[in-house]
Amino acid sequence: LASSLPRAVIALDLDYFYAQCEEVRRPEIKDKPVVVCVFSGRTEDSGAVSTANYIARSLGVKSGIPIAFAKRILKDNQDAVFLPLDMEYYETVSDRVMDLVRSTGDVFEQASIDEAYIDVTRKSGLDFQKAADIARSLKTEILHSEKLTSSVGVASNKLMAKMAVDAKKPDGFTTILPGKEREFLAPLPVGKLFGIGPKTEQKLEPLGIVKVGDLAQADLKILTNLFGRKLGPTLREMANGIDTSPVVERPIEQLSRIVTLKQDAQVFDFQEVIRALADDLSEKLVASHFTCSNVGIIAITSELKIRSRSKSIGSQTQSADEIFQIAGALFSSYFHELQEGGLEKEHRLRRVGVKVTGLEKAEKRGTLEDFV
Ligand SMILES: [Mg+2]
Repeated sequence: LASSLPRAVIALDLDYFYAQCEEVRRPEIKDKPVVVCVFSGRTEDSGAVSTANYIARSLGVKSGIPIAFAKRILKDNQDAVFLPLDMEYYETVSDRVMDLVRSTGDVFEQASIDEAYIDVTRKSGLDFQKAADIARSLKTEILHSEKLTSSVGVASNKLMAKMAVDAKKPDGFTTILPGKEREFLAPLPVGKLFGIGPKTEQKLEPLGIVKVGDLAQADLKILTNLFGRKLGPTLREMANGIDTSPVVERPIEQLSRIVTLKQDAQVFDFQEVIRALADDLSEKLVASHFTCSNVGIIAITSELKIRSRSKSIGSQTQSADEIFQIAGALFSSYFHELQEGGLEKEHRLRRVGVKVTGLEKAEKRGTLEDFV
């Protein structure tokens, strides 16, 4: 799968993603320090900072620090905003952005909730001006449709595209032209090379390898002795801007959608909600070229207890009708069981969801034409 042929690759990274998502839905907090927290629940402030916006970062708040510490840092900032993580919301936003990104490239690879690569070799005809134009319009489109800024890198492979993204954030746009990889990397500290951690950095330092340029010219024997026959040469290739790993779509295991009901439910009176979720999931399956063989429901009570049920379809499908029918039947039997046990009053549903599993890549069905 590895390819040493020339390529055009775009890397995209949504800026300070969770905190920016919060700014989008509450524009009034945009000019304040915003800190998104993972509250662990033991005490009011126990837990860690997940993401902070750039105002909070400029004051010293970083991902991973204890919430109590972040509060101390921001104690003189009366307007600082501390918010709990809302993964479902971020995932919904991410899904919409990723659909856009996917449709922009020849090949798409999601690297995390807020990062993706696309290969645009064919689409750009290897013209880097064209590749940069594609990247620029993707960035603009994300800003217009989701009000999110992103940082984008355009280069000849995944490693260099990633290095380009990291070169300028937030709202960055960096192109590294083919042939300019070494020049771009050489002055950077070796620890800035994607994939090189503090341990590797510490091993390299005694050898006088401090800059990426030093690593690019390092003695291969020494590197092999130190890091092994596989990693040693790879490190030197990376320092020379070489990366043959292809952009590949990663397998996904399940898709799900959860929403909060307008009113807590004691009976299955929210068919339209489930219909909309089924439509959504079906669209998602079609867009990502998957079929599913299993439909499940997620029921979250007003006491935040989570219940789930699932059922096999018996075949692979993308059909919204089929997903809706099974999810609906599962919710009906869920309430039916509660009523039989006289428990419906204690188990009001606040949030409901549908999920599909047993995902398989949808193969193009052979048609008669294939045999003619
Ligand atoms: Mg990001």
